[in-house]
Amino acid sequence: MRPTFVEVDLGRISANLAAIRSHVSPSTKVMAIVKANAYGHGIVEVARLMEKQRADMLGVAFLEEAVLLREHGITAPILVFGGIAQKQIPLILKLGLSATAPSVDKLRLIDEAAGALGIRARVHLKIDTGMERIGVHYYSADKLLEASLSCRHCDVEGIYSHFANADAADLTHARLQQQRFMEVLEFYTKRSLPPPCRHLANSAGVLALPESHLDMVRPGIMLYGVYPSPETPKTVPVHPALSWRSHVAYFKVVQAGSPVSYGSTWAPEQQTRVVTVPLGYGDGYFRALSGKAQMLIRGHRYPIVGRVCMDQTMLDLGTGTAYNGDPVTIIGSDEKEAISADEIASWAGTIPYEVLTNINTRVPRVYLGA
Ligand SMILES: *Cc1c(COP(=O)(O)O)cnc(C)c1O
Repeated sequence: MRPTFVEVDLGRISANLAAIRSHVSPSTKVMAIVKANAYGHGIVEVARLMEKQRADMLGVAFLEEAVLLREHGITAPILVFGGIAQKQIPLILKLGLSATAPSVDKLRLIDEAAGALGIRARVHLKIDTGMERIGVHYYSADKLLEASLSCRHCDVEGIYSHFANADAADLTHARLQQQRFMEVLEFYTKRSLPPPCRHLANSAGVLALPESHLDMVRPGIMLYGVYPSPETPKTVPVHPALSWRSHVAYFKVVQAGSPVSYGSTWAPEQQTRVVTVPLGYGDGYFRALSGKAQMLIRGHRYPIVGRVCMDQTMLDLGTGTAYNGDPVTIIGSDEKEAISADEIASWAGTIPYEVLTNINTRVPRVYLGA
């Protein structure tokens, strides 16, 4: 196997799920979000684990992700968040997936397709309370809810909305979104109808807004042990499940003034030791980390020098020591030092979500506790 790999500790993901469960009320269900290759952790393995740990539902962005899970024998309920094209509807129905209905038109198409196929459709209504993405606006949601009552072939399992700012220090907008969602739900109260499963909280909602938990929560990033933002309160103890490791592929002494890597952007002022690590932006390690990030060898932090290449990255050891084959940690801990996805995100000017989801499939995944 390639010596550059991602190590996923499945025990950590299970423990994070358990921590989320004990934080929310016992009657609140948990949907485990596994979109984007389970935030880089491997969608099939994580979904299998979540099924085994009895997560109430799995959440994916696209039909293709759900198809992959069904092909791998995962039978758990799966909600597809994204807007679906009309031609995808029959496959959604045949695979027993739950579809998002973001408009009256889509709902009707789903209902008709289900009628034509002679199967029941599972549907979650999507309300836009302040994201301006897919979903019917909260101020015109009644017509979608009304239409859902007259569907003949749909089981309306759920109704949901999504926060735009629950990870901010200022929760005013998140609270406004929740208020709008609750007003939409009065449709059911007024008609003395039980509402379908109401869900709103992403990780930030789970952590910062207990009143948003409702009937089900949808944690993504926190399941993987990473907090959504530095502003989110750490009300649930979760721990990172992913480590990214490589090894020293080459050691050399570089003379003062001899530039390292493409573009010759950096040269040592005095003779130094430089090692090459066999990974680069072709693996999803941002080129923007050139000259900014660090990696760990033998419990020490060493800076990246010169540009990150497609397949290789160079570290300046200074007077430090490393040998060919020594383990290198890109994300994770090594002796007393650790580098988190958050730290890489701040070096690269992005968020930990992008750091994790960017690690591509060229990097093999290894599972601990499988
Ligand atoms: C991605 C996603 C989530 C999970 O978000 P996190 O911030 O990772 O917890 C929840 N709900 C929907 C609709 C999503 O698209």
